[in-house]
Amino acid sequence: MTHSSRIAALLLFASPTLALAQGLEPALEAVKTEHVKSDIFFIASDEMRGRDTPSDEIRIAARYLRARLMRLGFEEGGTNGYFHEYPLDSSALDLAGTSAEVEGGPVLSFGSDYWIRSRSVRTDSESSGGVIFAGSSDADRDLDGLEGIAGSWLAFQDDGRSTGRLRRDAEREEAAGLILIEAEAGEYAVRFEGTMESLVKGSVSYPSERRRGEASAPFPLIHLTRQAWAKLCGSSSALPEGTSADAWAPERGTDLDLNLTERRKTAGDGGVTMENVCGFWRGSDPELSKEVIIVSAHYDHVGARDGEIWNGADDNGSGTTGLLAVSEALNAYGPMRRSIMLIWVSGEEKGLWGSRAWSDNPHLPEGCKPVANLNIDMIGRNAPDYLLITPSAKHEKYNGMVKLMESFAKLEGFPELGDADEYYHRSDQAMFERLGIPVAFLFSDIHEDYHQPTDTPDKIDCDKIRRVVRTVVRMLDGMQTDELEF
Ligand SMILES: [Zn+2]
Repeated sequence: MTHSSRIAALLLFASPTLALAQGLEPALEAVKTEHVKSDIFFIASDEMRGRDTPSDEIRIAARYLRARLMRLGFEEGGTNGYFHEYPLDSSALDLAGTSAEVEGGPVLSFGSDYWIRSRSVRTDSESSGGVIFAGSSDADRDLDGLEGIAGSWLAFQDDGRSTGRLRRDAEREEAAGLILIEAEAGEYAVRFEGTMESLVKGSVSYPSERRRGEASAPFPLIHLTRQAWAKLCGSSSALPEGTSADAWAPERGTDLDLNLTERRKTAGDGGVTMENVCGFWRGSDPELSKEVIIVSAHYDHVGARDGEIWNGADDNGSGTTGLLAVSEALNAYGPMRRSIMLIWVSGEEKGLWGSRAWSDNPHLPEGCKPVANLNIDMIGRNAPDYLLITPSAKHEKYNGMVKLMESFAKLEGFPELGDADEYYHRSDQAMFERLGIPVAFLFSDIHEDYHQPTDTPDKIDCDKIRRVVRTVVRMLDGMQTDELEF
C-alpha cells in the first residue's frame, strides 16, 4: 500500500458518514426475490445443460459463483483460490488407439465389427492370443473339456445369458479374453447404439480406496458381429476345404489357429479435477472466529439425456442461488463473531462426491475448525409455507441449530417445520456429519418435476427462497452467542 492510499484508508475508517449500517436488519433487507430470480434463470438455463459432473457447464457455474464471492469481499476458501479441488477417475476411450486385428489377417473395426461394453475401460490395455470356439454361452456354461485355454480368446455364441460366471472362470484359467458372437445379424448394432459415444465421452467415478493408485484393466470381453466372426473364420486355416466362412459351424473346442490382438486406449491422463466453490467470511472475534459454521448447497445436477436438458432449477438451482443470497446478506451484515464458510459442492447427484471430498480433506484457514453444517437442497417449490427440516425433534440428532430454525422460521412465514428425517443421509449433510459436527438440512420436499427435464426455473417460487434464506441468516445471527448450545 502506498503512503497516500494509507491515508485515504485511514480517512475512510475514521469517517462516521461513510460507515454503512451493518447487522441483522440490513442483512435481511439484502435478500431480494429479484436477485434470486436473476440467478436461478442463469444457473438453471438450458445453456447450462443441467450442470453435469463433470461438464463444461458446471465449470462455468463455478466461475459464476467465484465472481460473486470476489465481488462481495469473501476470502478464498479453497485449496486453489476459491476452489476446493478434488480428483475423479475418468475412463474416456481414445478411438485412435482402440483396435482389434488378426495377425496377417483382417482388421476389425470398432463400432461396426465389434463392440466393448460401456464402463469397460479404466486404463490402457492390450490382449493377444489364439481363438478357440467354445460353444454356446447358454448351453456350455463351463469351460470343461476345452484345451489350450490359457492365453487364448474363448469365443461363445451369445445366447443373451449373463456372462459373469464365464468371465470369472476364463480369467481364473488365464484366457486372453472372451468373445461373444452375435446371434442374429444386426442385433449388436441395435444393442450397442450409443455405446461408442458414451465410451468416448467416458465415465467418471470417485476414486475408491481399493482402486487408488494403479488402475487395473477389466478382463477383456468383446462382442463380435456375425459378419466379423465370418471374417475370422475366413482367415482360419481350420476352415474345412469347400466350406464358406459364413456357413461354417465349428465344433466346440476348435482352435482357429490365428492370433487376435485387441487394444484399448484411454484418453487424457485417466483423471479429471472437480471443484467445490468455497467463500470464507472471517469472524470478528479473536477466539470465536476460529469456529467455522459451514453453509452448503450442491450446484450440480444430472446434465442432459437423450437430447433433453434436465435443468435442475429446484434441484439444486434453488439452494445454489439461495447460498448466493446468503453471501449478499453476509456482505451486508459485516463480520459475525464466528466465521462462516459457504461451500457449493459438485457431484452430489453422482453420490455426494463433492461433500465427500471436502470431508475427506477438510480445508479451513490455519487454526480454524468446523463447528456445524447447515445444508440446503430444493427449497423453491410446493406450498409457500411448507418447509421441512432434519434432524427433527423426533430424530436422535436433533440439535440447537434446528431449534433456532424452528423459532425463526415462524417469523418468515413457515409456522411449522415438517420433518425431513428420511432424507437425513440423502444429501450433503450426511458427509459433513462425518466431521463429528451437528448438521441440519432444509428442504421443501420433492414434487412431480423432481429429477425430470421439467424442473425448470419458471416454476420456482423465488420469494419462498428469499424467506428460507432470511431464516438461515437469522439462524446464523443466532449462532453468535459465547457458547453454542447443541
Ligand atoms: Zn439435490
